[in-house]
Amino acid sequence: EAKNPGEKEFQQAVLEVVETLSGFLIKNPRYIQAKILERMVEPERVIMFRVPWTDDKGNVHINRGYRVEMNSAIGPYKGGLRFHPTVNLNIFKFLAFEQVLKNSLTSLPMGGGKGGSDFDPKGKSDNEVMRFCQSFMTELSRHIGPYTDIPAGDIGVGGREVGFLFGQYKRLRNEFTGVLTGKGVGWGGSLIRPEATGYGTVYFAQEMLKTRDDSMEGKTVTISGSGNVAQFAVEKVLDLGGKPVSLSDSSGTIYDPDGIDREKLEYVKLLKNGYRGRISEYAEKYDVEYYENKRPWHIKCDVALPCATQNEISGEEADTLLKNGCFVVAEGANMPSTYEAEHKFLNAQILYAPGKAANAGGVAVSGLEMTQNSMRLSWTREEVDEKLKTIMKDIHSMCAKHGKEKDGNVNYVKGANIAGFVKVANAMISQGLV
Ligand code: NDP
Repeated sequence: EAKNPGEKEFQQAVLEVVETLSGFLIKNPRYIQAKILERMVEPERVIMFRVPWTDDKGNVHINRGYRVEMNSAIGPYKGGLRFHPTVNLNIFKFLAFEQVLKNSLTSLPMGGGKGGSDFDPKGKSDNEVMRFCQSFMTELSRHIGPYTDIPAGDIGVGGREVGFLFGQYKRLRNEFTGVLTGKGVGWGGSLIRPEATGYGTVYFAQEMLKTRDDSMEGKTVTISGSGNVAQFAVEKVLDLGGKPVSLSDSSGTIYDPDGIDREKLEYVKLLKNGYRGRISEYAEKYDVEYYENKRPWHIKCDVALPCATQNEISGEEADTLLKNGCFVVAEGANMPSTYEAEHKFLNAQILYAPGKAANAGGVAVSGLEMTQNSMRLSWTREEVDEKLKTIMKDIHSMCAKHGKEKDGNVNYVKGANIAGFVKVANAMISQGLV
């Protein structure tokens, strides 16, 4: 607290890890002696920079760019870029810290980092977004590279932005390398990368359900967000026979009791990725309920998949979900449950998967994109999807192994934190005091 004043989300993310690791650390004092946790909460490097750009009318704007290079013990820094007006150093430190453990869980050789800007792509023209991305990359390009730091997309950074960022990097460096992931499939991107986080979250939920001899078939599913992760979570829930009934954005929530079917999902993709509209337009088109400035957690469901942003489920909302019979929560977003909500889910012993385990499919397929770039070949959809499924199953098994309690119940938060920590901690010890 004294060292990182006011960094609420960063402190929340660290507290959760410290709480669940303490028993394990007491049994393994070498990690305490080497001060591994103290080292892990200190970024290896933080880069902050000015991003000047001009809008279509010629007005000058100044945004702030960030890259937190958190930990490179097991591979080059890897993690997304977020463009959203609410970000600050605290948000990027929390995301980068989570990313280190998540990347370790994928079993691929990737360290952790995160970055972005307080730039808001909403309401900007393609040309404005391009000029911003070019200015942002002009500085960022000095700090990244295929062996150093490989950024990807996150909130506000999708295929369009990755394209502009990659183009500027290539132009400045005069080299075509796999420096970013989430690229277009025609120029180095991997099939299934756009789908990976949403699909992976649902695969993870399915694995948890299997432990209770159950499946997604016939389940009513509430989903928040309506961006990349939410859209493909809907798609996979449909593939597995579930019924997705909600989507949201920062203005409100739609509730479709008949279920969001494939045709409606196509409309959502067009609405959000094509002309970048609001989810309220879904309610008008299909004549369903729209709850302005509300989140979906009051809607009755079996499974909840928060796929929008951090701290989007309060303690009170967690109570409502539990009261309504929700017994599976798999986090597509990063830290969407508040500290209170998380503890309510854990105490109720429902099937609760933290983001660093459930949403690791995105960065896992980014890792597979890096492999394909290095090998200069591309795998088929089926190959990548199969590898994604295997990785999600393996992460589930690791969490179940390290998170098994005496009563047989699995604490997935504890499991993910211990499994992710051990690999990074051992590498840090082997590499000496660096
Ligand atoms: P998108 O930008 O594609 O979509 C984000 C969605 O969340 C939009 O519907 C957006 O609404 C909503 N949202 C964003 N900020 C807020 C907010 N402050 N309050 C309410 N709603 C908000 O991002 P992604 O789908 O890629 O990311 C969603 C989450 O998943 C994030 O937590 C991200 O870190 C996490 N994640 C993403 C991965 C990926 O591969 N993309 C990988 C792992 C995790 P609006 O349009 O109104 O802004």
